[in-house]
Order: sequence, then structure tokens, then C-alpha cells
Amino acid sequence: MHSSVAATTSTTTTSLATAAATEIRHDWSRREVEALLAQPFNDLLFEAQTVHRQYFDPNQVQVSTLLSIKTGACPEDCAYCPQSTRYDTGLEAEALMEIEQVLEQARAAVVSGATRFCMGAAWRSPKQRDMPQVVAMVKGVRALGLESCMTLGMLTRNQAQELSEAGLDYYNHNLDTSPEFYGDVITTRTYQDRLETLDHVRGAGMKVCSGGIVGMGEKQTDRAGLLQQLANLPQHPESVPINMLVRVQGTPLAEEADLDPFEFIRTIAAARIMMPASHVRLSAGREEMNEQMHALAYLAGANSIFYGEKLLTTPNPQANSDMALFARLGIEPERRHVEKVPETPSPHFYDAAAVS
Ligand code: SF4
Repeated sequence: MHSSVAATTSTTTTSLATAAATEIRHDWSRREVEALLAQPFNDLLFEAQTVHRQYFDPNQVQVSTLLSIKTGACPEDCAYCPQSTRYDTGLEAEALMEIEQVLEQARAAVVSGATRFCMGAAWRSPKQRDMPQVVAMVKGVRALGLESCMTLGMLTRNQAQELSEAGLDYYNHNLDTSPEFYGDVITTRTYQDRLETLDHVRGAGMKVCSGGIVGMGEKQTDRAGLLQQLANLPQHPESVPINMLVRVQGTPLAEEADLDPFEFIRTIAAARIMMPASHVRLSAGREEMNEQMHALAYLAGANSIFYGEKLLTTPNPQANSDMALFARLGIEPERRHVEKVPETPSPHFYDAAAVS
């Protein structure tokens, strides 16, 4: 067992200034993660905060903006998702946005202080005919000096390569839950499919954003299983979104029971301890979390949020209330220098514009 885990009760005597950096590990056992999640809440939070300070400024939170570039009509059957065509949620499907519309939103994100712009499309996987348009979006967003992130479903090795060559910084593809619970939530793609997409993303040299959803009726051991899978990847995802289920009427999980909010905080803390150098992100479900929950999540090591009016199709707290809370907690948005890519229109850019 790793020393920082074994020393649960003795960490209280560890000086933050002298604590050795927590080792980056890829060999977590399920039992070990379960023990981590089950320890006394205060011990868990103290350990998470201790690890957090070894790798990050504890008073900085990275801010990303998320835009749905293609909404609804997804053929997959993810039981939590209002965008699946299989569930009647009243969501209006929208075609892939035009490039200029996307860039307009990206410019607004720059003004609002975001440093990363994430674009999500409700696809099983991108069609080859959509790739030029998507590639042009990546180039346009990078030219504004924003980090770019996309989530488009499963990717082939070639598609991952194409996106990487366009300058895409991050690709999001969540594992969602443990391998054992996965089949209760999704049947149209396998866990292995997901791992393969992550492998293609890594192979193409992009950064990985991958996490999951809690509150779907899973047990604590499933949350442990999700974190174990993420932390035992050959390289930790740079970004680990931990979502709280948003129960949407019409989806199979609409009536799911409330998860104890402290279980959510425990999951954040364990993610921080197991993936010390990764950004742990608060994502879906923030609308239902009050300021105290947000503050506890930051204490547990969350250091990234989605900011803006919408998180794909679910409500997100207003951007200004995030900033007001940051000010009250003495938190600043993380600033990162992103090299601006000169906006030299590529043939793809024009081709793609013509497509739309
Ligand atoms: S989560 Fe993604 S893949 Fe699953 S139904 Fe929703 S949009 Fe489709």
C-alpha cells in the first residue's frame, strides 16, 4: 500500500511544507481504493488537501466553457442522457453548428475568462463527412488563444490523428462507472470500446479528459472501480470530470434516489489522491450543489469547473455566481499561457465553411 494511504491517521502530523510529493501510481487494487473511500471523512479530506498542495496552488481553479455543437438524436442508450434518441425528454435535436457560430461563442468564452473551450457533439462517433467542419472549429478556437477540447464519441485511430494534427489539446471520453456496473447503464458500446478510444487519443498525442458519473444507483465499490480504472491507465487523464447524475425526466434514471452528497465529496477526494497531478473537475450536477458543497469539493481537491450558462443540455450555475463564490473563498481562476496559433485559413477551413 502506498505510504500516503497507509498513513491515514498519521498524516495529521505531517507538515505540508515538508511532505514528500505523493508518488504517481498505476497499480491500485480495488480493495485499496475501497479503503480510501471508506476512511473517516476528515482523514480523507485532509489527505486529499495535503496531496493537492503538493501539485497545485490550492487557491486556483481552472475554468472551462462547454458548448454543445450538435445536440440530441444520439443513437446510443446511455441511461442518464437526455440526448439519446431512445428517450422522450422533450429535447430538440439540432444539427452540427456552423463554424462561425461556434467561434462567436468561443470569443465570448475568452471575454468571460475561460482558458479552455470544450465542444461536445452527441454522436456515437463522428462521421468522416463531419471531420473537416470539426477540424476547422478546432483551428478557429486555438487561433483565439484558447485550449481546445472536444467530445464527439468514439474515435478511430485516424480520426484521433486528424484532430491532433488540427491542434486539438484535449479529448473527452468518459468511462462513466465501474466495468461491473457499466452494463446497467449502457448497452450500445462496451467498456473496451471506451478504453480503445482513450488509447487512440493518447496514441495521437492528445491530452485525455476522462471521468465518470456518480449517483446512478451504483455502489461505493463501483465508484472505487471507476477511479481504479482511471488511475491504472498507462498515463493518468490530465483532466478527470466527476459528474453528479442530473435526473432528467424521460430517461431511465429519472427517478434514481439521491446519493449522499458526502459520497460525491469522497469520490472527488479519492480522485485527487489517486491522480495527484490531474485536474479534477466539477461538471454536471453543479446546479443542484449549494455553495457549501462547492467549497467542500474545492477542499477535497477539485480544481476545475465548467463555467457558463449551459453544460451541454443541463443547467449550470450562472457564471457570475461562480466568480462571486471564488471571491468569497479567495480562489482565482487558473491562468495558463496558451500559444496563439495564427489564424491562417487552411483549405479545411474553407471547405468546412462551405459544408455548413
Ligand atoms: S452520453 Fe453521449 S453517447 Fe451517450 S447518449 Fe448521450 S450523447 Fe450519446
